[in-house]
Amino acid sequence: MRTTQFHLVTRKETPQDAEIISHQLMIRAGMIRKLGAGLYTWSPLGFRVLRKMEAIIREEMNASGALEMLMPAVQPKELWEETGRIEDFGGQLLAMTDRADRDYFFGPTHEEVITEFVRDEVSSYKQLPINFYQIQTKFRDEIRPRFGVMRSREFIMKDAYSFHLSEESLDETYRLMEATYTTILDRMGLNFRCVLADSGAIGGSGSQEFHVIADSGEDAIMYSDESDYAANIEKCAAVSLISQRAEPSEVISVVATPNQKTIEEVSHFLDIQAEQMVKTLLVKGIDGPVALVIRGDHQLSEVKAAHLPEVDSPLQFLDDKAVRELTGCDVGSVGVKDLNCPVIVDLTVANMSDFVCGANRDDHHLTGVNWQRDAEFQQQADIREARAGDPSPDGRGRLKQARGIEVGHIFKLGDKYSKAMNAVVLDETGRSQALQMGCYGMGVSRLVAAAIEQCHDENGIIWPAALAPFQVAILPMNYQKSVQVKETADELYKRLTKAGYEVILDDRKVRPGFMLSDFELLGIPHQVIIGDRSLDEGFVEYRHREKMEKQKIERAKIFEFLT
Ligand code: ATP
Ligand code: MG
Ligand code: MG
Ligand code: MG
Repeated sequence: MRTTQFHLVTRKETPQDAEIISHQLMIRAGMIRKLGAGLYTWSPLGFRVLRKMEAIIREEMNASGALEMLMPAVQPKELWEETGRIEDFGGQLLAMTDRADRDYFFGPTHEEVITEFVRDEVSSYKQLPINFYQIQTKFRDEIRPRFGVMRSREFIMKDAYSFHLSEESLDETYRLMEATYTTILDRMGLNFRCVLADSGAIGGSGSQEFHVIADSGEDAIMYSDESDYAANIEKCAAVSLISQRAEPSEVISVVATPNQKTIEEVSHFLDIQAEQMVKTLLVKGIDGPVALVIRGDHQLSEVKAAHLPEVDSPLQFLDDKAVRELTGCDVGSVGVKDLNCPVIVDLTVANMSDFVCGANRDDHHLTGVNWQRDAEFQQQADIREARAGDPSPDGRGRLKQARGIEVGHIFKLGDKYSKAMNAVVLDETGRSQALQMGCYGMGVSRLVAAAIEQCHDENGIIWPAALAPFQVAILPMNYQKSVQVKETADELYKRLTKAGYEVILDDRKVRPGFMLSDFELLGIPHQVIIGDRSLDEGFVEYRHREKMEKQKIERAKIFEFLT
């Protein structure tokens, strides 16, 4: 590829709304462009990386014996009525209506669709086990899309669904998927952990998440280097809160003491806590109405009112106005017991005055949430702090804490969906049995951002070889005027391309410094710099994006050096 025939539009300035490095670099490198909230266009450059991700995932899924297929992105609402999941997904569902007034959702996930497919297609145990997968666009109307493609509304997921006659067979495929995910992330060159997780709104008996380790990650995980133990601690904390059994009419108070700097950050912190809380209540089957009260001082209440849309019944987010309507009091002065709801989650932000005046005192980094209802909850209080350094529950090693980006999630669903949707097969004895099911998701587009979170320096992206949009960049200085530079560059380009390498030759008429910093930003692993001065001495220069030291290579040997 020659840059003049490609589409390369880089930016020097860091975009204002991009909070984390991957988002900044993806915009600066021109990989993605924003269309609307949580909606991104992948440029030809970004798309090449996305394709790399997909190819690795596809190869390993195929190697595991899973079968690729493609389901519709648009799903009839009736399917979701069969499983009763409309409320679970709540505001995340994007609803639409066709000209005949029929209702649809843009699929946030495909358990219903695949189960519908399987109940017609699979009738005998002889067809089992079977594992279907697709790589496809999903839509979730996230409360707060952010971080570019890391948490977008439209995104690409690889989702797989396996079906079995027995739990043993499900276990086997679940383990196979765990191994497959490990291979996939290893091949991508990522530092990751597989952690125990809560099954969330998807439901089921067992689940594990795959987290790419990064400080910007939205989840906190605990792990031990000496053993396989690892868990998603935010989920553990939320679950233990509810396992204390929130009886009707109980008030659960949660005091969040964030160390975030801005109203935006605190607001997001609360969104995550709130979403988690809502999920947990749903999982535990606590049915409504449940009030989630988010309180703080005046400024924060305004932020919440602006950011949190109403969640479908039975859960509601109460803003100032709603609280006033329900109680006749202002948020600041209302006692939560005044609320007329059986279960109330009271999320209060402490130390508001600190953050409102912009302070972020260093001694003030309390992370996460204190569960502060009574003595019992106080015990749960600093669950994360307390557990870092504790012995691992399996007795091997001590727990460490890290932040992670959830890039994959595998679940044993059991018969939850097959029972609800009557997907049965005949077993060896001719008896009808509900299918056992597993599901396995991987965030393809999120992985691109997660990889950059791990692979960058202050000047740009450092692509692991397996993910780079091009492997080699040929950077000729004065390509337009110098015959020897042009010839050397063209010849190398030809030979490498012929040998099957993905090469980009920068034939733009730009200043050398501009070209070099562009390719530092783009993160192409192998870069060959060709200029008159070194050619006169019989050399070209080589630099690897990671180390960046220039190396002199004999002109005649550069092809062999690279290959
Ligand atoms: P999260 O906790 O980040 O909201 P999730 O648990 O809701 O993710 P799953 O239902 O487990 O997501 O979906 C499988 C995978 O899809 C996730 O592990 C993640 O990699 C990806 N994914 C989910 N939501 C998004 C999103 N809004 N943007 C990009 N990728 C996403
Ligand atoms: Mg989610
Ligand atoms: Mg999750
Ligand atoms: Mg998940």
